Amino acid sequence: MLTVFSEKHALHAPANELAGGGFRAPVEIPQRAEAVREGLLSFGGGTLCKPDDLHKPDDFGSEMILAIHDSDYVEFLRTIWQAWNAAGNKNDVVPSVWPSRSMPGRTVPPAHDLEGRVGYYALAAETTIQEGTWQAAYWAAQTALTATAAVRNGLGAAFGLCRPPGHHASKNQYGGYCFLNNAAIAAQDFIHAGAERVAVLDVDFHHGNGTQEIFYDRKDVYYISLHGDPEHTFPNFLGYADERGSGVGEGFNLNFPYPPGTGWNLWQEGLNQACRYYTDYGAEALVVSLGVDTFHNDPLSFFRLTQEDYLEAGRMIAQLNLPTVFILEGGYDIENIGENVSSYLAGFSQARKA
Ligand SMILES: [Zn+2]
Repeated sequence: MLTVFSEKHALHAPANELAGGGFRAPVEIPQRAEAVREGLLSFGGGTLCKPDDLHKPDDFGSEMILAIHDSDYVEFLRTIWQAWNAAGNKNDVVPSVWPSRSMPGRTVPPAHDLEGRVGYYALAAETTIQEGTWQAAYWAAQTALTATAAVRNGLGAAFGLCRPPGHHASKNQYGGYCFLNNAAIAAQDFIHAGAERVAVLDVDFHHGNGTQEIFYDRKDVYYISLHGDPEHTFPNFLGYADERGSGVGEGFNLNFPYPPGTGWNLWQEGLNQACRYYTDYGAEALVVSLGVDTFHNDPLSFFRLTQEDYLEAGRMIAQLNLPTVFILEGGYDIENIGENVSSYLAGFSQARKA
């Protein structure tokens, strides 16, 4: 399968992340993307992805990024580290104050205070910004756009090996290790090219709050997510079953939150339903937010999925018979992430050829 990969992902390398009341070793690290690349090349004796199938991203510029994200937010991401550093801060950018429920007075960021500006654009505190974060995020978006362009130009499917991930990034907030919403940018690119109904299927363990927010009042993008119940896990404040879209988008957002211990039997019912809804919808293209933190051994997950399950899930997705772009999201079991991602793509590829 054609795979787009940029070495620039490694420019985003968090030193630590806030969890459990202190800083710990981060889980969203450059080794993830390298392990996926190596896993793809070695999977099935090298039959899934050959060295020739690996492509560097082209530079499509900022048009699609700005079609999804607010320009002031993009400017913030581009410039905050330099400002933070110039102000004498020695550590990575970490937010510490928010326009929270009891302080809704201001709906714009403070003009001068950096802590306030960071909090305004952050939705969580575990995600740090370093010198190379913007470059890495920009090239992850270009990676998604390059994979999408290949599919728009007639290839049946492609994989954007994006890092940092994207589905938690909203129109104007970062968090959950995400800065630019690569899957949303891919979906928008299909729309921009003339598609009227694009399916975004999110199989990451976490709810893609950013993707939901971005398309919540639209019907040209139908977002369906299978994820850990936010009563039990991040992002906690979005991803419930009663969130169905609004305005003309009502009925075009669907959440399947699942409890701790969820395995294949329950999970695949959701996937089956999602596929039926997409067929009824008349989807013209599919973007898959491909997170493999649903794996039974993942440090962030309480699901119990296996590599055999991923093969079968890939087959089910293939049966939609849609032009398909896979976008890498989460997955933190470094030892298995390469084979986990490959299993999805191999199941998909085998079913397409059959
Ligand atoms: Zn996740």
